[in-house]
Amino acid sequence: MLKNLFSKLPNQGKTIFAIMSELANQYKAIDLSRGFPDFDVNEELVKLYCKFLKKGYNQYAPVNGILELREKIAEKTEAAYQSTYNPDTEITITGGATEAIFAAITTFVRENDEVIIFEPAYDLYTPAVKVNGGIPVYIEMTPPHYSFNWDQVQKSITANTRMIIINSPHNPTGNVLSAWDIERLKKLVNGTNILILSDEVYENILFDGFEHESIILHPELKTRSIIVNSFGKTFHATGWRMGYILAQKELMNEFRKVHQYSMYTVNTPAQYALSEYMTNYKNYHELVDFFQQKRDLFTNLLSGSKLEIIKTKGTYFQNVCYKQLSEEGDFEFASRLVREYKIASIPVSYFYKGKNDYKILRFCFAKNDETLKRGAEILCALK
Ligand code: GLN
Repeated sequence: MLKNLFSKLPNQGKTIFAIMSELANQYKAIDLSRGFPDFDVNEELVKLYCKFLKKGYNQYAPVNGILELREKIAEKTEAAYQSTYNPDTEITITGGATEAIFAAITTFVRENDEVIIFEPAYDLYTPAVKVNGGIPVYIEMTPPHYSFNWDQVQKSITANTRMIIINSPHNPTGNVLSAWDIERLKKLVNGTNILILSDEVYENILFDGFEHESIILHPELKTRSIIVNSFGKTFHATGWRMGYILAQKELMNEFRKVHQYSMYTVNTPAQYALSEYMTNYKNYHELVDFFQQKRDLFTNLLSGSKLEIIKTKGTYFQNVCYKQLSEEGDFEFASRLVREYKIASIPVSYFYKGKNDYKILRFCFAKNDETLKRGAEILCALK
């Protein structure tokens, strides 16, 4: 037996996504926990993937991704945000947003660097910072508004602050950064060397006329920022593990040094398929209406329940407070919902370092209407 095995993440358990999904499978529950669609990828995209598999595009792609796909991303970014990224030097295809985020943090966060993280936080940020010897510094967001507390950020900035991680639309809260938030951020980082890691994987999923305040829209922020995006979220293909990263040349140079060893290259036929699929802009724009309809359906159905809905502004997650139904802790309550009522959600306390329990559950509505209806029926019957 090995003795004194040193762990880089001594207190880290299984991710809450795996815990709840496994529980959902075990009890054959309706799974509204993990953020993935239960409907299929567009048939045209599947056909394109098959086409490139059959055409023999099955060997390593270039290390930064195929140029055709990087050019498509540059065109799409220019069209959406009137901002230029050079496909050759400022865009890299990654193994999903997860690899992009992990490699970006590994690239830039050094021993004892402080990284500001808003919590509840997507569960990857903290372990990625810690594995690299960095120190997470948390800014708490609280229900029902989950505002970004910039005064607290200001107080938390020190000479050791290396990076601020932002995520908008925000998982798990469904809040989005406003123009005012961006102005505060600009003022806070102005004159510093702080980097911004901007996780924008839900950039196309905003509701009720809210607009995505991408970092890309702000030249003074863009130069210090690494922007992460995901084809999995945008094209309902989370299992393909396809994402990309945008950053100005000097930052990208450094990122690529790490990415070439963490991933080497990304799935070749998927890159060709996405590149051809992206020729049609319609494939992006349809997304907003598609998910608005799903969010409205789910929240309307839930209005007859005892759950208090914290209306989501973006992402495909809906948070609800269950205080009227139970005093139990959120993990306990979520687990009981799976076991006794066959419906799975994510207890939001798991996204706080201190497991802060506001009695909130996160439900994913990237599901077929039938699934949502069956799920809402169960939730409405809870007494
Ligand atoms: N991003 C998705 C979510 O928030 C899935 C994450 C995962 O399975 N690791 O649910």
